[in-house]
Amino acid sequence: METFVTIERALSIARETPVKFTTETVPLNQAHNRILASDLQSKVDDPPFDNSAMDGWAVDSKGTTPRESTCSPVRAGTLLSQVEWLTEPEDAHPIMTGAPIPLYADAIVMKEDGINGKAHTNFIRKTGENFLKGDTLLQTGQLMTPSAISLAATMGHETVTVRTKPRVAVISTGDELVRPGQELIEGQIYESNSFGLCALLEKVGCIPVVHNIVEDSLKGLRKTLNSLDCDAIITSGGVSMGEFDYVRKLMEEEGNLHFWKVAMRPGGPPLFGTWNGTPLFGLPGNPVSSHLVFMLLVAPWLAPEISLAKKVHVRMKDPVKGAPGKVCLRRIQILAEGDELVASTHTHQGSGNIHSMVVHNGVTYLQPDTNADTGNIIQALWFND
Ligand code: AMP
Ligand code: MG
Repeated sequence: METFVTIERALSIARETPVKFTTETVPLNQAHNRILASDLQSKVDDPPFDNSAMDGWAVDSKGTTPRESTCSPVRAGTLLSQVEWLTEPEDAHPIMTGAPIPLYADAIVMKEDGINGKAHTNFIRKTGENFLKGDTLLQTGQLMTPSAISLAATMGHETVTVRTKPRVAVISTGDELVRPGQELIEGQIYESNSFGLCALLEKVGCIPVVHNIVEDSLKGLRKTLNSLDCDAIITSGGVSMGEFDYVRKLMEEEGNLHFWKVAMRPGGPPLFGTWNGTPLFGLPGNPVSSHLVFMLLVAPWLAPEISLAKKVHVRMKDPVKGAPGKVCLRRIQILAEGDELVASTHTHQGSGNIHSMVVHNGVTYLQPDTNADTGNIIQALWFND
């Protein structure tokens, strides 16, 4: 077991115990945000035949006499065989975008330029100029973005084989927690982490399975963990130094702990290990901490292909104080100003204030023991949305 590790070290330890998945074949229109589990070859050349990139006329660029046209237009979808025998040299054959090119023609005149306008050879899209039948264009591990889905369809695939979505149990711990919808009595707060964590899990292509709030007791926690049937477990709360931080205690005594505590603020006390062979991430209970630990450690562990934030450099408009020995993640609002990104802070920065994650769209990534003054350029994470 390692303790107080860097963010990079925490991630590499977690990656030694990856979440297990199998594969399934899904219709292409259900493949969005899934991860490809086999290489995909094209079933066709693209384009499959020479065709026009413009509406206009198909011409022989070497023709010398003024052009005229008596032919009916070649439309997209016209049979190639018809195009070949219908046409005569010297014709300027009206043609539509996507229509096959008559045999004698080697260029297109744009409709906008008129029939005697300039003939452009590069307005003919050549067979296979984008890719060829048999080319592997999407590899195992590819995230199926909207454009990757379109490409798979262009290649002739109606289904794709993808990784199954991991089923991830989400367990909130804490005697003070009550589900929204009920009246709070003194000492209670609304349980919020599981809601954000479920939304984050969906973003990274997992199936969240929320369990009832577990009270702060070894017995209750053990019972819940033993009842799970899932690919990974995420808990929130109960991982710090407190007397009733039973997730940490149980993992120390009866689980298999791989690391505890990471050099980041907020989000210092997370742990990772296995419970009965199932990987378990124990996130701190403070809402900002659980959210940021998910974004920085859990998401890249579960789905390295899906990015929730990008590393950028920003010029600070406000000073921010760093943290001794830890990467400091202050919430900031990043926006483009001229040719640079600038960042400012707007709310109370406490790790209990989830409002700070909504008002801002990123966090500083201030190296340990450094502060940033107004005007300094520093590293930051810019949330994707
Ligand atoms: P803990 O990590 O259990 O020490 O909790 C740290 C702080 O986060 C405490 O103020 C808790 O009340 C709060 N907290 C813990 N779990 C949740 C949760 N699921 N939703 C909202 N706040 C929580
Ligand atoms: Mg607690």
